Formats: sequence, structure tokens, C-alpha cells
Amino acid sequence: MNKYTTCKYCIMHSGIPGITIDKDGVCSDCNDFVEEQKVNNETAAVEYTKKMEELFEKVKSEKHVYDAIVLFSGGKDSTELVNIAKNRYGLSILGFGMQLPIGKPQAVTNMDEVAKRIGFDLMKMSIPLDTYKRYMKFALMNSDKYDLGENIGCAACSFIFRWYAYRLAIEMNIPIILDGRDKWQNGGFLFESGAEIKEKALKGEKVFSRLHDLAQDALGTTKGLMGYDIEYFKDKNFPSFIAPFTFMDYNTMDSLKTIDELGLNKNDFETMYTNCDGVYLFDYITLKRFDCTSYHKGYAHGLRNKIPTLTQLKTDESGNDDSFMLTREQTMTVLDEYKKALFYMAEHSIDSAALTDEVIDEIIKLTPFSLKLYGEKGARMLVKRFTFMKEYADFFDINLLDIKEDE
Ligand SMILES: [Zn+2]
Repeated sequence: MNKYTTCKYCIMHSGIPGITIDKDGVCSDCNDFVEEQKVNNETAAVEYTKKMEELFEKVKSEKHVYDAIVLFSGGKDSTELVNIAKNRYGLSILGFGMQLPIGKPQAVTNMDEVAKRIGFDLMKMSIPLDTYKRYMKFALMNSDKYDLGENIGCAACSFIFRWYAYRLAIEMNIPIILDGRDKWQNGGFLFESGAEIKEKALKGEKVFSRLHDLAQDALGTTKGLMGYDIEYFKDKNFPSFIAPFTFMDYNTMDSLKTIDELGLNKNDFETMYTNCDGVYLFDYITLKRFDCTSYHKGYAHGLRNKIPTLTQLKTDESGNDDSFMLTREQTMTVLDEYKKALFYMAEHSIDSAALTDEVIDEIIKLTPFSLKLYGEKGARMLVKRFTFMKEYADFFDINLLDIKEDE
């Protein structure tokens, strides 16, 4: 990270989309954070919660097929979200899940089990494999043309999930969509009223901004749920989009308690701790293009708020909930070593078949700090996971060496 100016407080640098560094060496996100602190986040959290609860009460008194759609991934946070929506707030909910080709089969099993035990209607949708590949490859190769930033891999993939749910809510006149993301995943509070989203949409600002243009260019059609045609739904109601865990007092450990109470196996959800395995490919492309990882903004947010965000690197197999709180310098070192490992593996075309013990030793030599931090076993396990980069590149028909470094 030499050619860019790095913020003196966090890990953001001037090459990351949307980030500027001021004359004192402080990034725009850190400056925004200081401004936000002045507004008093706690008051805002209480207000958002109150506003949400009022909306719930209003919606429950109206006639709707369902009060809310809950975006349901089969992970632990969205399990807790359906539990809260149904059991604490008494909403009539429709769980909505997406069976994406890149997702883990365990997630689908979890969806079915949780729906059965909590008791709610679950709708699962899938997308044809070739459509998905074509769309994702286009997104990964062209994200810079749409100004979609460093997190395009996850953003493009989860767009399918969010936008399908959104269209469904419009079609069925369901007034609320609940999303299980937390504050650090989202980068702040998320509470958007349907009326406001619609007002903007009528002025030409699309619901999920340029992701719609990207989808349309990739697939060349406005048919199907991937399409966006404001003429078609301008007379309908738009749902409010709310991520309660971005402002509610919520600890991710609460969800494990709920999973236990439902009689489900925590380990099936623990495996969901890690992000989807596509993230290594997405990170590689983003490291080449912007010299940062897909979740750089989230890691920086964690540093500012003293939340341990590198927990996905947690390697304890005994179900221990310990997580690391790394300093700014340690975070930068870990990420830099991660980059070295990925680049090495791309240059040498290392997939799981090519990953011998000797090759792992070579890669670990590049990551001495991570080795110390995660231990021999943990570091080797991480390197094994990194082979998903090459495997997903092959899956999307992307040649890793075709991705050029930003000049
Ligand atoms: Zn900063």
C-alpha cells in the first residue's frame, strides 16, 4: 500500500473508491465518523427502534398478505431476525431465501429446519446457473465502469437476493422488508421508508442504484425479476427496507442461544461464520483494482468502533467464541500478508489439487505475522481456504492473470 496515502487513524487510503484524505492525513470516513459521534448514536438508535416498532404496530393493524418479508440466508443472524420478527413483535412474516450457486448447501438445510421449528412460510428461489455466471462475470470484470466500488462481488451477488425480495414485496403489497445485516456490514444505520424510496425512484434514482444498469447490461433484458422498469411498478407501493441490527441492541451471540433453544445444532450455523467462499476471488480482483479488500470499509469501521471484525479468520474448531481485536498496524499487516498469499497463488495457479504441503510451506513463508497470530494449524487452514479463489475463477471463467493492476 505504498503508492496511495493511507489515513493516519485507520486503514483507508486514497485509492479506495469514495475515500479522500485531507491535509491532516485523515480520511473522509474517519471525519464522517467524528461528525456522527457528535449527533449521539445512542439517541438515534433509540429513535430508530421506536420508529420501527410504531411501523410494526401500524402494519399489523392493516390488511396485508404478510406484514414483512424477512431476508433469510439460513445463517445465525437472519435466524435471530425471523425469531424476533415473529415471536417478539408478532409479525406475520414470509421468509425469503435465495439458493445461489455460490452459496453453501448447509444454508438451505438450515433454512428448512428453522422455518419448520419457528413456523413461518418460506419461499426459496433460484436463478439459472448460466444466467448467474454471466451476470457475475460481467459484474466482476466491469464494476469500475459502473462506479460500484470495492465490494462489487458481494454487492452484485446479494443484489439478486435483495432485489428479488423487493420486487416480490412490491407485487404482493408487503409493506416491510427486514434485513439481517448489522451496522458494520452495512456501514451505518439502515432504515429507508418505502415512500421515500419511491419518491426517489420516480425522479429516476433506481432502488439499488447502478446495480440495475449493470444487471440489464449483463443480461440484456428487462423481463424477469432481474429487470427494472419503473413504468411497470410506478403505481404500486414500495416496501420500507430496514436492517434492525444496525441500530438495535444486538449481540450476535444471542442468535446462538436461539439456535440452541430451537433444538438445532450450533455447529451447522457456526460454519456459516465464514463469509461465502467467493470472497477470496472478489478480494483478489479488488486488491488488483483498488489495492484493498472487499470489506476494507468494514474493517476500518471495526477499528474505529473497537469491534473485532476479522473474526472470520477465527480458526478455533472447538466452537470457542473468542475473537481477535487487532490494532491498526496489525490489521494492515494481516491484510498485506493476505494479499501476498493470494497474488502468489494466482501467479502459480494454485487450486486445491496443486496445494501440496510444500506449497503451503512456501505460502506461509510470506505470512509470518499471520502465522504467529493464528498458529500453524490456523494458518495452514486459511491457505487451504484461499484455493477457492482459483476454483471460483474457473467457475466464472475468469483468468486471474487477466485482471490488471490499477496504474
Ligand atoms: Zn481513516
